[in-house]
Amino acid sequence: MERGSAAAGSGAAPAPAEEGEGCAGLWELPVERCERRPECGRCSRPQKVCLCPFLPIHPLKVSICLYIIQHPAEESRVLRTVPLLAACLPPDKCKILVGRRFSEDRYPELATVCRNPNTLILYPGAEATNLEEVAVMSSSPSVMIIIDGTWSQAKDIFYKNSLFRLPKQVQLKTNISSQYVIRTQPTNTCLSTLECAAVALTIMEKNTIIQETILRPLQALCSFQLQHGAQIHHSKEHLLKNGLYDKPMPKNKRKLRRMELLVNNVKI
Ligand SMILES: [Zn+2]
Repeated sequence: MERGSAAAGSGAAPAPAEEGEGCAGLWELPVERCERRPECGRCSRPQKVCLCPFLPIHPLKVSICLYIIQHPAEESRVLRTVPLLAACLPPDKCKILVGRRFSEDRYPELATVCRNPNTLILYPGAEATNLEEVAVMSSSPSVMIIIDGTWSQAKDIFYKNSLFRLPKQVQLKTNISSQYVIRTQPTNTCLSTLECAAVALTIMEKNTIIQETILRPLQALCSFQLQHGAQIHHSKEHLLKNGLYDKPMPKNKRKLRRMELLVNNVKI
């Protein structure tokens, strides 16, 4: 499987727009104020489209703790799935670290977690074991690290931080298609971070209720967006295979090769 979303950040988060900041010289104009729309404190959605009615009343009971390593660009996206994931879990079971670089000096707690033999990192590749196989083994994992960002952001975070190559690397061998239809995914089986977490927790905790509960707000989000004019984004794979890809083909040979692989169902 491929990760759809993968990210992290320290201090790179966009500061809430101060009144007037960035608007120098525009004071006279009777335009909207450059403020963010008020957000719901629980789901981080604009208050008018709050998804809290679709969240569980009580956080799910899970034994595994998730560490979401979030790329700074992901934090500022309009459609974010990680706040919805966090809202489904107890606060001590879902930790979010935003950044690109995670050194042992600056993140001693994370370093300890990475050195723990019971920690897993969800990142697909030749070295990764299928999570289903890990789940049947005796030792019970206590922490799972997931990278939240685009495919290339996740790759950068995984390979440029030696800490992330310490835990056992696992991947999801799943056939489920992404329900996150608003955002273009590279392949049909490319899951959002929330979907990855839902599937992974369900496998590890052996409880399908987890997946249903975590995916409910995502389904609500997608149907809401679609009702309000968002277009279904088919994956690049779907568009290419059906001759619907309307963007210029990349000039870069490596990128072109990647797209050929997508069409021919080769895992990249
Ligand atoms: Zn809400």
